[in-house]
Amino acid sequence: MANIFAYAEARGGELRKVALETVTAARKLADATGGEVHALLVGAAGITAKATLLAEHGADVVMVCEHEGFTHYNPEAAAALAAEQIGKGGFKAAVFSTSAQGRDLAPRIAAKLQVGLVTDSISVEMNNDVLLARHPMNIGKVIATVAIASTPALVSIRPNTYSPVANPKAGRVENVSPVADPSASRVVVTEMIEGGKGKLDLAEAPVIIAGGRGLKSAENFSIVEDLAAAFGNAAVGATRAVTDDGWRPHSDQIGQTGRLVSPDLYIAVGISGAVQHLAGMRTSKTIVAINKDKDAPIFKVADYGIVGDVLEIVPALTAAVREARKGH
Ligand SMILES: Cc1cc2nc3c(=O)[nH]c(=O)nc-3n(C[C@H](O)[C@H](O)[C@H](O)COP(=O)(O)OP(=O)(O)OC[C@H]3O[C@@H](n4cnc5c(N)ncnc54)[C@H](O)[C@@H]3O)c2cc1C
Repeated sequence: MANIFAYAEARGGELRKVALETVTAARKLADATGGEVHALLVGAAGITAKATLLAEHGADVVMVCEHEGFTHYNPEAAAALAAEQIGKGGFKAAVFSTSAQGRDLAPRIAAKLQVGLVTDSISVEMNNDVLLARHPMNIGKVIATVAIASTPALVSIRPNTYSPVANPKAGRVENVSPVADPSASRVVVTEMIEGGKGKLDLAEAPVIIAGGRGLKSAENFSIVEDLAAAFGNAAVGATRAVTDDGWRPHSDQIGQTGRLVSPDLYIAVGISGAVQHLAGMRTSKTIVAINKDKDAPIFKVADYGIVGDVLEIVPALTAAVREARKGH
C-alpha cells in the first residue's frame, strides 16, 4: 500500500479544473497500490471550502493551508510547503499539472527533494511498484514510456488528458502550516491579468478552433470566433505564423513554442500542419482539419478532413453547429 500526493491548484479562491484532473490521476495510481490520495490545497482564507470538491473526485485527505500570502501563486512558499509535506508523508508518487503553475512548481520540488520528475505526461500507471509515465518527445513524434526509479516519483500531467472523474471519498481535512512566512517570499505575484475576460483557457477548453495563415487576415478570424461561440464551450487558438503576423496575441499560439493542448475536439482551420504546430496539439482526442490543399500534412493526423476553402466551409459549419445545438 502506498499513498499518492496530488497538488490541487487554485486561483482567485477557486479550484482550477486541472486540480480535479490531478486528483483523478492520483486516484488511479492509488487504486493500483491500494493506497490513499492526499491532496494539498493552498490559498487565502476560505479556500478550505473547496476541499469538498477534491473529496468528490477521489481525495481521502485534503491538506489545507490558508494564508494571505497564498492569495496568488507563491512559488517559494508553495514549493517549500509541498516539498515538506511530500517528504514527510512517505508518498510513492506526487502528481502535478503541466499548467503554467505546475511547470514552475514541480521542478522546484524535484530539486528540493533530489528526486526524478517527468513533465508533460499524457498517462501514468503503476507497474510492479514502479511509476511509468508516457511522455511526448522529439516535438511529439515519439511517445516515450519513462520509468521513474526515485521515490517519491514526481510527475506532471498535460492538462485535459485526464478528465475529472467523480469518485467520492472521505476528504478528511487536515490543516497544515506554511514552512516559512509566505508573505516574506522573495518572489511575489502581485496581480493575475486574465487574457480575455470570461473566455475559456486554451489548456482547459474541451473544444478548440485554431486558425492558421489560410484565413488570410486578422479580420477573417471572426469566422473562427463565430464557430467557437456556436459550440459554447470552445476556445480560439492560432499558429505561430498568425501570432508572428500580429493577427492574434502570442498567448493564443499552440505548438512547440506555444501552448500544449489536448482538447476533446480540435478543429484546424487553414493550418498546414508543420511539425512545430503538431507538437502542441497532436494528443487532441479528435482532430478535424479544413484545408484547400488535400496534401497538407495536417490531414495525416486528422480523424476527419474537409478539403475546401475555409471562408466557405467554416460559416457553413457554424450554421450546422448552431442548428444542432438549438435549445441547448
Ligand atoms: C523553432 C520553431 C518553433 C516553432 N513553433 C511553432 C509553434 O509553436 N506553433 C506553430 O504553429 N508554429 C510554430 N513554428 C512555425 C511552423 O514551422 C509553421 O511555419 C507554422 O505552424 C505555419 O503556420 P500555418 O499553418 O498557419 O501557415 P502555413 O504553413 O502558411 O499554412 C497555411 C495553410 O492554409 C491553407 N490555406 C490557404 N488558403 C486557404 C483557404 N482559403 N482555405 C483553406 N485552406 C487554405 C494552405 O493550404 C496551407 O496548408 C515554429 C517554427 C520554428 C522554426
